[in-house]
Amino acid sequence: FFIAVEGGDGAGKSTQVEALASWIRAKGHEVVVTREPGATAVGKRLRSILLDVSSGGISHRTEALLYAADRAEHIETVVRPALARGAVVITDRYIDSAVAYQGAGRELAPTEIARINRWATGGLVPHLTVLLDVSPETARERFTEAPDRLESEPPEFHQRVRSGFLTLAAADPSRYLVIDAGQEPEAVTTVIRHRLDEVLPL
Ligand code: C5P
Repeated sequence: FFIAVEGGDGAGKSTQVEALASWIRAKGHEVVVTREPGATAVGKRLRSILLDVSSGGISHRTEALLYAADRAEHIETVVRPALARGAVVITDRYIDSAVAYQGAGRELAPTEIARINRWATGGLVPHLTVLLDVSPETARERFTEAPDRLESEPPEFHQRVRSGFLTLAAADPSRYLVIDAGQEPEAVTTVIRHRLDEVLPL
Protein backbone atom coordinates (compact mmCIF):
# COMPACT_ATOMS: atom_id res chain seq x y z
CA PHE A 1 0.00 0.00 0.00
CA PHE A 2 1.50 3.30 -1.13
CA ILE A 3 0.75 6.61 0.63
CA ALA A 4 2.10 10.02 -0.43
CA VAL A 5 2.00 13.01 1.90
CA GLU A 6 2.08 16.30 0.03
CA GLY A 7 1.89 19.98 0.84
CA GLY A 8 3.78 23.22 0.82
CA ASP A 9 6.82 24.02 2.92
CA GLY A 10 5.92 24.21 6.62
CA ALA A 11 2.66 22.26 6.24
CA GLY A 12 3.83 19.72 8.83
CA LYS A 13 4.43 16.76 6.49
CA SER A 14 7.26 15.16 8.42
CA THR A 15 5.33 15.29 11.72
CA GLN A 16 2.32 13.57 10.11
CA VAL A 17 4.45 11.00 8.30
CA GLU A 18 6.04 9.93 11.60
CA ALA A 19 2.71 9.83 13.45
CA LEU A 20 1.13 7.67 10.75
CA ALA A 21 4.10 5.35 10.51
CA SER A 22 4.01 4.55 14.25
CA TRP A 23 0.27 3.99 14.13
CA ILE A 24 0.44 1.60 11.17
CA ARG A 25 3.45 -0.20 12.67
CA ALA A 26 1.53 -0.70 15.90
CA LYS A 27 -1.02 -2.63 13.84
CA GLY A 28 1.74 -5.06 12.91
CA HIS A 29 2.70 -3.91 9.42
CA GLU A 30 6.11 -3.25 8.00
CA VAL A 31 6.24 0.49 7.21
CA VAL A 32 8.90 2.14 5.08
CA VAL A 33 9.13 5.90 5.58
CA THR A 34 10.88 7.73 2.82
CA ARG A 35 11.04 11.14 1.18
CA GLU A 36 11.84 13.16 -1.91
CA PRO A 37 14.21 14.58 -2.79
CA GLY A 38 17.12 12.71 -1.28
CA ALA A 39 16.21 9.17 -0.19
CA THR A 40 19.01 7.43 -2.12
CA ALA A 41 22.76 8.00 -2.50
CA VAL A 42 22.28 9.64 -5.89
CA GLY A 43 19.25 11.46 -4.52
CA LYS A 44 21.25 13.02 -1.68
CA ARG A 45 23.62 14.52 -4.21
CA LEU A 46 20.73 15.78 -6.32
CA ARG A 47 19.08 17.22 -3.21
CA SER A 48 22.11 19.28 -2.37
CA ILE A 49 22.34 20.60 -5.94
CA LEU A 50 18.65 21.48 -5.86
CA LEU A 51 18.40 23.03 -2.41
CA ASP A 52 21.72 24.58 -1.43
CA VAL A 53 21.42 28.31 -1.66
CA SER A 54 24.97 28.22 -3.04
CA SER A 55 23.68 26.53 -6.22
CA GLY A 56 22.31 29.92 -7.22
CA GLY A 57 20.00 29.91 -10.20
CA ILE A 58 19.14 26.64 -11.95
CA SER A 59 17.11 26.76 -15.15
CA HIS A 60 13.54 25.68 -14.52
CA ARG A 61 13.61 22.75 -16.94
CA THR A 62 16.87 21.51 -15.42
CA GLU A 63 15.31 21.73 -11.98
CA ALA A 64 12.29 19.71 -13.17
CA LEU A 65 14.53 17.02 -14.66
CA LEU A 66 16.73 16.76 -11.57
CA TYR A 67 13.67 16.25 -9.37
CA ALA A 68 12.41 13.63 -11.83
CA ALA A 69 15.82 11.90 -11.78
CA ASP A 70 15.77 11.78 -7.97
CA ARG A 71 12.27 10.30 -8.16
CA ALA A 72 13.19 7.67 -10.76
CA GLU A 73 16.01 6.38 -8.54
CA HIS A 74 13.81 6.50 -5.45
CA ILE A 75 10.95 4.54 -7.00
CA GLU A 76 13.12 1.89 -8.59
CA THR A 77 15.48 1.23 -5.69
CA VAL A 78 13.41 1.99 -2.56
CA VAL A 79 9.67 2.16 -3.17
CA ARG A 80 8.97 -0.67 -5.63
CA PRO A 81 11.07 -3.24 -3.73
CA ALA A 82 9.30 -2.35 -0.46
CA LEU A 83 5.84 -2.54 -2.05
CA ALA A 84 6.78 -5.87 -3.65
CA ARG A 85 7.47 -7.44 -0.24
CA GLY A 86 4.14 -6.15 1.09
CA ALA A 87 5.32 -3.16 3.12
CA VAL A 88 3.28 -0.01 3.54
CA VAL A 89 5.32 2.83 2.02
CA ILE A 90 4.81 6.42 3.15
CA THR A 91 6.62 9.02 1.11
CA ASP A 92 7.07 12.63 2.15
CA ARG A 93 6.44 14.21 -1.31
CA TYR A 94 5.90 12.55 -4.69
CA ILE A 95 4.92 13.50 -8.26
CA ASP A 96 2.29 16.00 -7.17
CA SER A 97 5.05 18.10 -5.59
CA ALA A 98 6.67 18.37 -9.01
CA VAL A 99 3.41 19.32 -10.69
CA ALA A 100 2.77 21.95 -7.99
CA TYR A 101 6.31 23.38 -7.62
CA GLN A 102 7.77 23.04 -11.11
CA GLY A 103 4.44 23.06 -12.98
CA ALA A 104 2.43 25.72 -11.13
CA GLY A 105 5.20 27.43 -9.13
CA ARG A 106 7.76 27.70 -11.95
CA GLU A 107 5.03 28.06 -14.54
CA LEU A 108 6.15 25.15 -16.69
CA ALA A 109 3.20 23.29 -18.20
CA PRO A 110 1.78 21.06 -15.41
CA THR A 111 0.65 18.39 -17.90
CA GLU A 112 4.21 18.08 -19.26
CA ILE A 113 5.64 17.83 -15.76
CA ALA A 114 3.13 15.10 -15.03
CA ARG A 115 4.15 13.32 -18.25
CA ILE A 116 7.92 13.25 -17.57
CA ASN A 117 7.18 12.01 -14.06
CA ARG A 118 4.91 9.24 -15.28
CA TRP A 119 7.81 8.12 -17.42
CA ALA A 120 10.34 8.49 -14.58
CA THR A 121 8.27 6.32 -12.23
CA GLY A 122 6.89 3.80 -14.70
CA GLY A 123 3.43 5.12 -13.88
CA LEU A 124 3.35 4.30 -10.16
CA VAL A 125 0.35 6.06 -8.56
CA PRO A 126 -0.26 6.20 -4.77
CA HIS A 127 -3.34 4.48 -3.32
CA LEU A 128 -3.83 7.56 -1.16
CA THR A 129 -2.41 11.08 -1.36
CA VAL A 130 -2.76 13.20 1.75
CA LEU A 131 -2.60 16.92 0.99
CA LEU A 132 -1.74 19.08 4.00
CA ASP A 133 -3.12 22.41 2.92
CA VAL A 134 -1.96 25.54 4.70
CA SER A 135 -1.62 29.19 3.77
CA PRO A 136 1.96 30.27 2.98
CA GLU A 137 1.71 32.85 5.78
CA THR A 138 0.90 30.25 8.45
CA ALA A 139 3.56 27.94 7.03
CA ARG A 140 6.23 30.59 7.16
CA GLU A 141 5.65 31.14 10.88
CA ARG A 142 6.63 27.51 11.44
CA PHE A 143 10.10 27.75 9.92
CA THR A 144 12.77 27.34 12.52
CA GLU A 145 15.85 26.86 10.34
CA ALA A 146 17.46 29.05 7.69
CA PRO A 147 15.39 28.87 4.50
CA ASP A 148 16.64 26.64 1.67
CA ARG A 149 16.73 27.78 -1.95
CA LEU A 150 13.03 27.14 -2.55
CA GLU A 151 11.81 28.44 0.77
CA SER A 152 13.37 31.79 -0.15
CA GLU A 153 10.96 32.15 -3.09
CA PRO A 154 8.47 35.05 -2.88
CA PRO A 155 4.95 34.57 -1.43
CA GLU A 156 3.39 34.54 -4.95
CA PHE A 157 5.42 31.45 -5.79
CA HIS A 158 4.15 29.61 -2.70
CA GLN A 159 0.62 30.76 -3.46
CA ARG A 160 0.86 29.22 -6.97
CA VAL A 161 2.23 26.00 -5.45
CA ARG A 162 -0.71 25.84 -3.06
CA SER A 163 -3.22 26.34 -5.90
CA GLY A 164 -1.36 23.73 -7.96
CA PHE A 165 -1.87 21.12 -5.24
CA LEU A 166 -5.53 22.03 -4.76
CA THR A 167 -6.17 21.76 -8.51
CA LEU A 168 -4.67 18.26 -8.55
CA ALA A 169 -6.79 17.22 -5.57
CA ALA A 170 -9.97 18.56 -7.14
CA ALA A 171 -9.30 16.58 -10.31
CA ASP A 172 -8.91 13.25 -8.50
CA PRO A 173 -10.97 13.30 -5.26
CA SER A 174 -11.03 9.51 -4.76
CA ARG A 175 -7.22 9.38 -4.41
CA TYR A 176 -6.95 12.52 -2.31
CA LEU A 177 -7.54 13.49 1.28
CA VAL A 178 -7.26 17.27 1.66
CA ILE A 179 -6.80 18.48 5.23
CA ASP A 180 -6.64 21.95 6.73
CA ALA A 181 -3.12 21.77 8.12
CA GLY A 182 -3.52 25.02 10.01
CA GLN A 183 -5.16 22.92 12.76
CA GLU A 184 -3.34 21.32 15.67
CA PRO A 185 -1.15 18.39 14.53
CA GLU A 186 -3.15 15.91 16.64
CA ALA A 187 -6.37 16.92 14.90
CA VAL A 188 -4.73 16.43 11.49
CA THR A 189 -3.49 12.97 12.49
CA THR A 190 -6.99 11.96 13.59
CA VAL A 191 -8.49 12.90 10.21
CA ILE A 192 -5.86 10.89 8.34
CA ARG A 193 -6.38 7.83 10.58
CA HIS A 194 -10.10 7.85 9.91
CA ARG A 195 -9.52 7.80 6.17
CA LEU A 196 -6.88 5.09 6.46
CA ASP A 197 -9.24 2.96 8.53
CA GLU A 198 -11.56 2.99 5.52
CA VAL A 199 -9.01 2.27 2.80
CA LEU A 200 -6.06 0.39 4.28
CA PRO A 201 -6.37 -3.39 4.06
CA LEU A 202 -5.45 -4.00 7.72
O1 C5P B 1 9.90 18.59 1.83
P1 C5P B 1 11.30 19.10 1.93
O2 C5P B 1 11.44 20.27 2.88
O3 C5P B 1 12.33 18.05 2.11
O4 C5P B 1 11.54 19.72 0.48
C1 C5P B 1 12.74 20.33 0.21
C2 C5P B 1 12.53 21.54 -0.65
O5 C5P B 1 12.34 21.16 -2.00
C3 C5P B 1 11.39 22.41 -0.27
O6 C5P B 1 11.89 23.72 -0.06
C4 C5P B 1 10.48 22.41 -1.48
O7 C5P B 1 10.02 23.70 -1.66
C5 C5P B 1 11.38 21.97 -2.60
N1 C5P B 1 10.75 21.17 -3.63
C6 C5P B 1 10.59 21.67 -4.90
N2 C5P B 1 10.06 20.89 -5.88
C7 C5P B 1 9.70 19.64 -5.64
C8 C5P B 1 9.85 19.11 -4.34
C9 C5P B 1 10.40 19.90 -3.36
O8 C5P B 1 10.92 22.80 -5.16
N3 C5P B 1 9.21 18.90 -6.62
